Amino acid sequence: MDFSLTLIALLYCCVLILCLPGFAAELTPNSSKIQGQNSNSEMEQFEGERRQMVEYQIRARGIKNERVLAAMSQVPRHKFVDSPWKDFAYSDRPLPIGHQQTISQPYIVAYMSEAADISQEAKVLEIGTGCGYQAAVLGEIAKQVYSIEIIPQLAQRARRTLNQLGYENIEVKTGDGYQGWVEHAPYDAIIVTAAPEQIPQALIDQLAIDGKMVIPVGTWYQEIVVLTKTEDRIVEEKTIPVRFVPMRRKLLKW
Ligand code: SAH
Repeated sequence: MDFSLTLIALLYCCVLILCLPGFAAELTPNSSKIQGQNSNSEMEQFEGERRQMVEYQIRARGIKNERVLAAMSQVPRHKFVDSPWKDFAYSDRPLPIGHQQTISQPYIVAYMSEAADISQEAKVLEIGTGCGYQAAVLGEIAKQVYSIEIIPQLAQRARRTLNQLGYENIEVKTGDGYQGWVEHAPYDAIIVTAAPEQIPQALIDQLAIDGKMVIPVGTWYQEIVVLTKTEDRIVEEKTIPVRFVPMRRKLLKW
């Protein structure tokens, strides 16, 4: 009699232990371990696509700066676009980022980053944060990045994405890029990712001596201009034709 009571008590204990949350988590398909495996394989898939992007879209087209190539291999472009576009994140095309704006195709991001000739110690200003992707690439290459976005919602979202990815050397503000960001000037490099009709004087003023500005200029026909500032002159070199969204004159209500 005593023996059968002990047996029942033992069985009861086993049932209780198996029902503890830890055991349940190990056995159910929704356990965090399996979710982890899913996102790992997603990460591996995107890593493969990113390697291909760097080799076939960027290095193969003549980008040589190893620090730019390393940055493009590092930044998870798929984290900067909305879900419907994730699968196209590494394709050779611009992508919509909302508010009728676009993120440039990867080659153009690499081209502008290389043309700006950025050192590890550089302080860089970007105009047109958009989703924050170009800022992240610059954050990998430079010491400090300041970026200005005229649409508050985009600035807010870019800030969130960059924070989530752990970029501590990038500051984003909502404002008008025509004014630059005088508090942190002069900048060793300035990259503008929206097209003005003419190069804004405030940006030339905020560029350091020996600094470079890379900027698309024009209306329906645009070219990337690489501007170099020396002690006594400004040198402008027209490079490739491009198609960027226009640089707006006013803070708009969205
Ligand atoms: N560099 C971005 C893409 C830029 S798209 C990225 O990596 O995602 C161009 C951006 O410039 C848009 O987000 C647009 O809102 C912004 N823009 C346009 N005019 C501006 C201005 N005057 N000042 C600051 N940003 C501006």
